[in-house]
Amino acid sequence: MSEGHIEKKINLVSGDLCKRCVLPEVKPNIIFNSDGVCNLCLEYENNRELEDEAKLHESDLLKILKKNKSKGKYDVLAMCSGGKDSTSALYYMKTRYKLNPLAFMFDNGFETDDAIKNVEKAADKLGVDFMFYKSNYMKEMYGKILETKSKAVICHPCSLWYMDLAYEIADRHEIPIIIAGWTKGQSTNQKVMSKCGCNSASPEFKEMGEATRDFLDTYVRNDPKYKDFPATMEEVLKKASERKNKALVISPHWFLPFGAEVYVPTIQKELGWEFPRVSYPGRSTNCMLNFISVYNSMKNYGYTHYHVEMSKLIRQNVISRDEALKDLEFQMSKEQLNAIAKKLNYQYE
Ligand SMILES: [Zn+2]
Repeated sequence: MSEGHIEKKINLVSGDLCKRCVLPEVKPNIIFNSDGVCNLCLEYENNRELEDEAKLHESDLLKILKKNKSKGKYDVLAMCSGGKDSTSALYYMKTRYKLNPLAFMFDNGFETDDAIKNVEKAADKLGVDFMFYKSNYMKEMYGKILETKSKAVICHPCSLWYMDLAYEIADRHEIPIIIAGWTKGQSTNQKVMSKCGCNSASPEFKEMGEATRDFLDTYVRNDPKYKDFPATMEEVLKKASERKNKALVISPHWFLPFGAEVYVPTIQKELGWEFPRVSYPGRSTNCMLNFISVYNSMKNYGYTHYHVEMSKLIRQNVISRDEALKDLEFQMSKEQLNAIAKKLNYQYE
C-alpha cells in the first residue's frame, strides 16, 4: 500500500484469539480451554512426536532428481508465483542441482506486476525458458462465489485449477517432475498442497472444505463451461495418474538444510528478487484476488487458511506469535477491496 493513504483500513478481527496460536474460538471445531488455549494447540502438545514430520535430507532429493532425470528438453517444471519460496526453488534447480527447468507462471487475471517481474528477472538471470500462462477461464467461477454469497474459499477452486494446469503442461512437454515452492511448515505429508486444505480432515478446515465442496457440487457441476473442472484435489490427482507423463510434485524446501534466512538474501543478491509491495499476508507473494478470499474468510469464519498455516508454524517454533499477528493484519480499505471486486462485477456494501 502506498504511504499515507487516507482510506480507512478494514478491521476484521473480533473476539479473542488462542493464547498460543492465532486461531479464534469457533465452536464446535475450535474450542478454548479455561486458560484460553485451543484444542489444536493442546492436541499438538500431546502428540508432539507424532506431529513432527519425518526429517527429509537433501540426499533424498538428489536420489529423486537422478531417478527422474528427463531425457527430454526440460528436467523439471518449476511453478513460479514470483514469491521467495518458488523463486528460490527455481534458482536451486538451475544452480545447485544443475538441471534445466522450465519456469512456469499462471495468472488467474489477478497477478501483480511485482510478482510477474520477479519471475521474469529470475528467468533472465538464470537463462531458463519462461512460460507465462494468463487465463480468464476462472473469472466466472470467482464471480459466482461472490454473487451467490457462497462461503466457498476462492483460493481452493483456484488451486484445483492451477494444479490441474501444471500437470497438463508437464504432460505436454513430457516433464517428469513438477517443482513447487512449498515450505516445510506447509506439510510434507500431503501429496499435493491445497490452499484451503479442502481435502483435509482437520477441524480447522472442516467448515471451509464443506462450503467449497458444496459450491462446486451445486454450481460448477452443472455449468457446461466447467464440465471438466475437477471437484476435488483427489480428482486432479486421479486425472494426473491417467496421463501418459506421470509427473511427481515435490518442493526442494522439504529437503534443503536451510530456510528462508538463507535463500531470501541469496535470491535478492543473485536474481534481484524483491518483496512485492502489496500482498496478504505480510511478506508473502499472493495475487490480488487473495484479498477478496481473505476478506470473505474473515467474514464467514473469523479466520483464514493463513491463520491455520501460521498457527502450525507457531506450534513448530518456526515463527513467533507476534510475527504471525503482524503479517496477518489486513491492510486494505473497502475502496481498495472494491477496486479488485469490480473486475468480477461485484461490489461490497
Ligand atoms: Zn491455539
